[in-house]
Amino acid sequence: MATSLLRVPPPQGLLRPLAVPERLLLGPGPSNVPPRILAAGGQQLLGHMHPEVLQVMDEIKAGIQYAFQTQNRLTLAISGTGHCAMEAAFLNLLEHGDTVLVAVNGIWGQRAADIAKRLGANVHELLKPPGEYFALWDIEEGLVRHKPSVLFITHGESSTGVLQPLEGLGKLCHRHGCLLLVDAVASLGGAPIFMDQQEIDILYTGSQKVLNAPPGSAPISFSNQAREKMLRRKTKPPSFYLDMGWLANYWGCDGEPRRYHHTAPINSFFSLREGLAMLAELGLESSWERHQANCAQLCKGLRELGLELFVKEEKARLPTITTVRVPEGYDWKDIIAFLMDNHAIEISGGLGPSVGKVLRIGLMGCNSTSGNVDRVLRALRDALGCCRRSRL
Ligand code: PMP
Repeated sequence: MATSLLRVPPPQGLLRPLAVPERLLLGPGPSNVPPRILAAGGQQLLGHMHPEVLQVMDEIKAGIQYAFQTQNRLTLAISGTGHCAMEAAFLNLLEHGDTVLVAVNGIWGQRAADIAKRLGANVHELLKPPGEYFALWDIEEGLVRHKPSVLFITHGESSTGVLQPLEGLGKLCHRHGCLLLVDAVASLGGAPIFMDQQEIDILYTGSQKVLNAPPGSAPISFSNQAREKMLRRKTKPPSFYLDMGWLANYWGCDGEPRRYHHTAPINSFFSLREGLAMLAELGLESSWERHQANCAQLCKGLRELGLELFVKEEKARLPTITTVRVPEGYDWKDIIAFLMDNHAIEISGGLGPSVGKVLRIGLMGCNSTSGNVDRVLRALRDALGCCRRSRL
């Protein structure tokens, strides 16, 4: 007679082996993880305060300083994805009633404004249509009108494929007593960025794009001016987990003995360390050149297929993620499904304001190769031949 008290049986799905198909991930992220990084993440655990792990964290900090081109002491990786770094930046910088200016030309500005509003900030949005970028005078007008303490802008707008020029922006913000906060989740390692030279105060990225590590850790760095603003806070940051004072100590950035804050995702850190190591070995300049060259090859091929690039100006195209308009007579979902079903290739539709308008093709880190450009172009040619909808 069954005497078990259990009323919920073990789920059938969990009693089968894990099945992970092979796919080429050419969407806007995550990108494929190369064997070296997979192996690093598959290492046995150590205690999260063991000296070997602290050493890995120190190496990660140095790797981020190289990738960001910064000497900032307050440089570390958040235990979370890009959104977590975004929230960490805002909730440590802002107090209730602070004024923030958010440059919105795609979904990331929209999300940033949402996060800042939830924190009780006084949020002003500078708007540009998707596919366009901000000029210095657009920003200056906003700075003069709203006198914000922080400006948020996205370097690589992954929802639209726009690369935001950053030259002169930090200086401009500082002239107006404002800190510059930049999202480089989709661009870091794929397009030049120089945190110190460009006077960026807060910069963050994610692990799963050009760095080719699994999602789950997010490099971030704060300038001295940003640190000073955080030190002047009258109230504690509204999150314990993302409190930069605690994290700075945990990451050995404050010169004090390290104290337990949270149990770090150690294997994510192993993977991130390898991703940063691979970038350091390749060299930033080679990485930027590689992304640029493969993006140019992709754009040329897309045009030859009769597709229209969404971002008009060549220099404003993000080298990591290319957007094309959904061609007339096609449903974007059919094209994406065709590539997945027939070629095991992921590409993506639009996001936020670009939904239904574009297809997005990502070539990031190890995925940015000439061979992958040829593969995705062949698959798209096939899709264009097969997916045209007959007129109703
Ligand atoms: N910012 C940008 C520019 C991004 O492309 C992404 C991810 N697509 C994020 C932020 C959010 O990162 P995550 O999905 O890792 O939270």
